[in-house]
Amino acid sequence: MNPNSNQNPNKKPGEDNRTPLQKYLPSIVLALLLTLLINAVYSNIVSAKTKEITHTEFLTMVEEDKIHEIQFTTDRVNIITREDAEKSESARITYYTGILQNVDYTELVNTLREQNVLVSEEVIEEMSPIINILLSWVLPLAIIFVLFSYLSRSMSKHMGGMGGFGQSKAKVYMEKQTGVTFADVAGQDEAKESLVEIIDFLHNPQKYAAIGAKLPKGALLVGSPGTGKTLLAKAVAGEANVPFFSISGSDFVEMFVGVGASRVRDLFQQATKVAPAIIFIDEIDAIGRTRDSKFGGNDEREQTLNQLLAEIDGFDSSKGVVILAATNRPEILDKALLRAGRFDRRIIVDRPNLNGRYQTLRVHTRNIRLADDVDLHKIAKATAGAVGADLANLVNEAALRAVRQGRQTVNQQDLLTSFEVVIAGTEKKGTVLTDIEKRIVSYHEVGHALVAALQKHAQPVSKITIVPHTSGALGYTMQTPEEEKFLNSKAELLVELRVLLGGRAAEQLVFGAQTTGAANDIQRATDTARKMVMLYGMSDRFGLMALSQAGSEYLEGRAYVDCADSTAAQADEEVRSILNGCYEDATRILTENRALLDEVALYLLQKETITGDELMAFIRADQKQKEEKNEEEA
Ligand code: ADP
Ligand code: ZN
Repeated sequence: MNPNSNQNPNKKPGEDNRTPLQKYLPSIVLALLLTLLINAVYSNIVSAKTKEITHTEFLTMVEEDKIHEIQFTTDRVNIITREDAEKSESARITYYTGILQNVDYTELVNTLREQNVLVSEEVIEEMSPIINILLSWVLPLAIIFVLFSYLSRSMSKHMGGMGGFGQSKAKVYMEKQTGVTFADVAGQDEAKESLVEIIDFLHNPQKYAAIGAKLPKGALLVGSPGTGKTLLAKAVAGEANVPFFSISGSDFVEMFVGVGASRVRDLFQQATKVAPAIIFIDEIDAIGRTRDSKFGGNDEREQTLNQLLAEIDGFDSSKGVVILAATNRPEILDKALLRAGRFDRRIIVDRPNLNGRYQTLRVHTRNIRLADDVDLHKIAKATAGAVGADLANLVNEAALRAVRQGRQTVNQQDLLTSFEVVIAGTEKKGTVLTDIEKRIVSYHEVGHALVAALQKHAQPVSKITIVPHTSGALGYTMQTPEEEKFLNSKAELLVELRVLLGGRAAEQLVFGAQTTGAANDIQRATDTARKMVMLYGMSDRFGLMALSQAGSEYLEGRAYVDCADSTAAQADEEVRSILNGCYEDATRILTENRALLDEVALYLLQKETITGDELMAFIRADQKQKEEKNEEEA
């Protein structure tokens, strides 16, 4: 942890960093304009209803006896003609003329009285100018301003923090200091090595600029979900002690066209302002997908991608901004993204191997009190295929279990149990299988286990269970490899196929039935057999000829068939014959050991879960019996 991380409190996403003036200026301007408009319209309406006339015109009106009513105010005489008096109030026009100093109005008033004109002598007070200004300017201004600020605030809330119009800062997540270092990332040594140079560059961009060296602007972190790509990117920022900007590709998939592009522009603007900095784009495949119409066009995504490309090309890398992007599907990325000067560096973040898993477990148990019986090596061995996130989850589950049971420390059993929770889903307490279903599942699992235990090159069985798990499996047989394996021989693959098909073989042998429970086994077996024929050159018929191309080098992508249709049909035939052969082998193994199969299956039915050791005890006892029998016969 970085000791001074407290002095720089992390910036919350969506925080507004504009000054009050900047914030309210639009509201003020708008309120002013509206008030002007209101006053203009109002005075227009008023002036349409009143009309000024000269004193002479007024006198003419008096002479011609046209006046119905007059009214004296401080500075004018208001006149209503007989004609207008008959009209409705709204259609009536009031004439007025200024009061002149040198005129004696008493005579005039007398004349008017003789004409039966209504004369109101009370002087009607005009509004004081201050109140007038208040009413016609200040009040509307204030009301409009308050209304508008309120509206714009609630609007920006609804639109996910689109402060102002179009520009958005909301989903960009920024950390001044991540506080994560390489020590927090277990294993991944190769990835770290490739990132060291970037850290050095961020520490001292001038050094590179002085020599004229250009560092790549970005690197692509490639690996399955949960392998620690985000963690690595944060560690780079932490090691270099620079701010970390992150955004997820899926955030760009917005409903408004143009928002994604403006968000990208924003992101780069913010980062260059505080450079050196790291920009991390998670799930870049969400925007960086190839623009082929294969996946259907999407204007918004294309605009965002184009903006991203423009920003990458546009910014000056000597300032020290490095973009890291993460994906688990590099093969679908647009070629333009991978061009030189963009994400031309690829850093593979693999699933951890045995040692990597051990190190990851150690990192995550640093702050956890462990009991003396804990053996992390064993856990690491049992978790082949798990990624860092799984292991972190596993350790946490174990700690929770210890707390639930009121213990002070985490023991090995906690870790083992949570391994099952994390890997195979939690035990489904509520699911009740019928007796016959349970018997079938039991035979099915023991079928797998025996075919495995009775073959030479099989991985040892460590556990058999018929307790249903939330993952959907009604039971499972767990095999743990003695050691990490990267190469498999043809013989080993055949052993694996027999084990996979052993479940169905047992069902068929004992119940003469085929159930849906074997679907997953059959799927996996078919996959393996197909790869043997199409990819590994392990079939007699096609020998070394590869019939397909691997979809992606290290991830479980689909392979593309790369041969004539007739060849593909023959290949299918070959796959079928491999599977059939293995199925027959499995059936033979189980038939030869039918007594053992019954014995273990019934035992499992009672106990629901048995260990690999218990299974081996059964097998040894059975072999001893057979040997004694042979001796007797001899
Ligand atoms: P990704 O971005 O590849 O999907 P993350 O970096 O988000 O994966 O990893 C999720 C979590 O898994 C991390 O926060 C960390 O706790 C754990 N983790 C993953 N890989 C490692 C590792 N190599 N060392 C330690 N912890 C890891
Ligand atoms: Zn099975």
